[in-house]
Amino acid sequence: MVSRVIPVEPFDLVVFGGTGDLAQRKIIPGLYRRFWAGQIPADSNIIGAARSELDDAGFQDLARAAIAEFVAKDKHDKKVIEAFLARLSYVAIDAKGKGGWDALKAKMRDGVVKAFYFSVAPSLFGDLAERLHAHKIADANSRIVVEKPFGRDLESARALNAVLAKHFDEAQIYRIDHYLGKETVQNLMAVRFANILFEPLWKSEYIDHVQITVAETVSVDGRGAYYDKSGAMRDMVQNHMMQLLCLIAMEPPYHFDPDAVRDEKLKVIRALDPVKPEDIVRGQYLAGNEQGGYVEHSEDPTSKTESYIALKVNISNWRWKGTPFYLRTGKRLRARASEIAITFREPPHSIFDDAEGWRENVLVIRLQPNEGMNLMVMIKEPGPGGMRLTQVPLDMSFAEALGEEGADIPDAYERLIMDVIRGNQTLFMRGDEVEAAWAWTDPIIQGWEKRGDKPKGYDAGSSGPEDALMLMHRDGRRWREIRE
Ligand code: NAP
Repeated sequence: MVSRVIPVEPFDLVVFGGTGDLAQRKIIPGLYRRFWAGQIPADSNIIGAARSELDDAGFQDLARAAIAEFVAKDKHDKKVIEAFLARLSYVAIDAKGKGGWDALKAKMRDGVVKAFYFSVAPSLFGDLAERLHAHKIADANSRIVVEKPFGRDLESARALNAVLAKHFDEAQIYRIDHYLGKETVQNLMAVRFANILFEPLWKSEYIDHVQITVAETVSVDGRGAYYDKSGAMRDMVQNHMMQLLCLIAMEPPYHFDPDAVRDEKLKVIRALDPVKPEDIVRGQYLAGNEQGGYVEHSEDPTSKTESYIALKVNISNWRWKGTPFYLRTGKRLRARASEIAITFREPPHSIFDDAEGWRENVLVIRLQPNEGMNLMVMIKEPGPGGMRLTQVPLDMSFAEALGEEGADIPDAYERLIMDVIRGNQTLFMRGDEVEAAWAWTDPIIQGWEKRGDKPKGYDAGSSGPEDALMLMHRDGRRWREIRE
């Protein structure tokens, strides 16, 4: 398969927070990879901005080190790296201060795409928007990119939307959820809407239930103070898992167009039922394997923040009534694995005697590791011995199926930044979508806070708290094994 890299228009991209972790680990290496692939025109400029007193060479040195550390060695081409670094410059700016704005303005060119990546704490979004406007650095065609967390509840999300809306139209605001930049996540839409195979079955009549799992092995050690104010519900469910649920559950949009797609996602969020307390299991990992437990990492021995959550979610609309979506995510679990599993119902009548051999059809979409799809189908067990049934996977690893190109799938950030430059908002969350997601999330969190619920302890390296198993057993179902 021939790789098709379509160059974007020349641009000036300002990365506020250019010296920070996200910029150095994801944004700069991602931009370099796109430059290396020939997607970024050579006359594009990337301007780092933060408070640290650095000159251009200092910022280029940081970027050189970031490329060395975070870009695969096969893309380390000295000439390309130097050509890329030559496009980088730096301005010292305090988002809350007065200095540096004129210097930034002087660097920005007319006639190219202007984008501003706010890779800073959300508390600075308002200051940046205000100053970009006041100094006439941004114009009606400029784009701004904002990072998660987009609020910690409906009220704060509304406040963030309001400060951005003061100076930018919704069509200029790109709210990043990097899950939407993952190849497999976009493939969910291709699988559903570019094949006749699945869509006729894509409803409660044929689908028994859906499981969405985002399992991590890492703890919150080192970022406990931040995580303790967030928890799994805010950190994972309200944004990433909600987006996955929407892409599975939404109606076909009339066109693959940003607002058509986002309108359909919004309808799903609005159709979500409130979640009953008995349909929620929260957990906290315990100490083990010579590592501290959650409370040691959070530094609050009484912390009730969940590092794990499992939920049963019902969608009240014609398509999904009667098909629960089970969501679970957690830290310090037995494996790093993210997947969506769609379990189909039994055939209406079995003509075979081997009832024991029968298993449900399951479509598994793996997000990580090894992006790909697996369709579990029933076949005859090979060999003599009568008509016995067995289940086999129709396995498609994207990397294998797509050959070299598959092995070189762009990272989510690379793809999303290129979409910003192209002016395509399809894979970015719209303001009303984010607010609707918080409007569903808030009462769930308020419910457990009011009841004073404590998370259940679970062993590090396990599949989560025992009670989460019951959430499924009770309904005569079981979780899929968490494994890489
Ligand atoms: P970080 O490592 O703490 O970096 C923050 C950046 O902001 C630094 O470059 C810092 O540089 C700059 N900064 C701080 N105060 C400033 C001010 N008043 N004016 C101008 N620049 C200022 O944080 P990060 O991890 O990169 O995260 C950045 C944003 O992305 C946050 O909103 C975070 O929630 C979000 N995010 C991060 C990740 C990740 O993997 N890191 C993932 C998802 C979302 P100076 O100190 O030199 O000013």
